[in-house]
Amino acid sequence: MSVWDDVVGQPDAVATLRRAATDPAAMTHAWLVTGPPGSGRSVAARAFAAALQCTGSGGVTGGCGRCLACTTTLAGTHPDLTVVATDKVVIAIEEVRSLIMTAARTPSTGRYRVIVVEDADRMAERTTNVLLKAIEEPPPHTVWVLCAPSAQDVLPTIRSRCRGVVLRVPPAPDVADLLVRRDGIDADVALAAARAAQSHVGLARRLARDPEARERRGAVLEIAQRIRGVGDAVLAAGELVEVSKAEATSATAERDAVERAELMRGLGVQEGDTLPPRLRSQVKQLEDDQKRRATRRQRDVLDRSMVDLLSLYRDVLVVQLGATVDLVNVEHAAAVRTLAADSTPEQTIRRMDAIGVARERLEGNVAPLLAVEAMTVALRPQG
Ligand SMILES: [Zn+2]
Repeated sequence: MSVWDDVVGQPDAVATLRRAATDPAAMTHAWLVTGPPGSGRSVAARAFAAALQCTGSGGVTGGCGRCLACTTTLAGTHPDLTVVATDKVVIAIEEVRSLIMTAARTPSTGRYRVIVVEDADRMAERTTNVLLKAIEEPPPHTVWVLCAPSAQDVLPTIRSRCRGVVLRVPPAPDVADLLVRRDGIDADVALAAARAAQSHVGLARRLARDPEARERRGAVLEIAQRIRGVGDAVLAAGELVEVSKAEATSATAERDAVERAELMRGLGVQEGDTLPPRLRSQVKQLEDDQKRRATRRQRDVLDRSMVDLLSLYRDVLVVQLGATVDLVNVEHAAAVRTLAADSTPEQTIRRMDAIGVARERLEGNVAPLLAVEAMTVALRPQG
């Protein structure tokens, strides 16, 4: 057992990080861990943090997974570990300033002070420049671990000062193994979920454990199959956007209420009381943060639906070209064959392009309904 057990399908990255944790000559004080969503960036970053803190039996072991330093780091409670896991759209400049103050302190019990920033790409340029100075000359016991989808997602100035570790999409069987080993999921269910999630570890676990998540995914794929004309396309777009909004709301509503209750308690206001004017700005701040979080969640959910749709047409193309690779959507094989018979490979590629364009537009903050509508119209049968 070691802290690296949950970093699935990443032998190269693990070898690099492990060596850095055990060999001072291989150590760097600023890291940039990149990899597609679900490849396990934050899991890798935490494992690395644990390996850095590990005191193991008989000294440095590079992440034994059993000592107090390892277990508390993995649990996120080690006093010399700071993790910025933002649920907001952007990381605020104040937050980065306070991180820099933390980074300057010597470790209290650990070997290093480790700062993990899970979404280093979610920073305004001004904020990044503040961070830049800190990672340029970190104190000797401080290690910055920045994570982002790709190196292009952070400014070149940051990139050039960090050592890069690239995660790949883990093979589906590796993801399935993890689900079986760690979550006790049935092997067949685990493999189907890993394929359907296209090796996105977190999503695979959710699909394997939550029948509703499987149903929602199925519903998204069915919406696409129902499109016959422009009218259906417009309806389908509305449905896709509504489903993502509902899922985002259900995921954030409870947390929003708890945060609000905590803030009210902190301000000494009873629920139902009129808010004194001087406290309104604090409540407004919280509401703005929550709104931003809900917006981002909705976009993430919607993007996930697009990826699911893309996987459907990818399967269609696989069938049309007679390729001998596994289908992503094994449980939708019949629908895949129908779609394959009703269209040409060129049409399938055009549809996949339309999905890609919609994803880019969503990323570029185009109103979700507009972007999705243009896509569903392009998905309808031609001729
Ligand atoms: Zn350890």
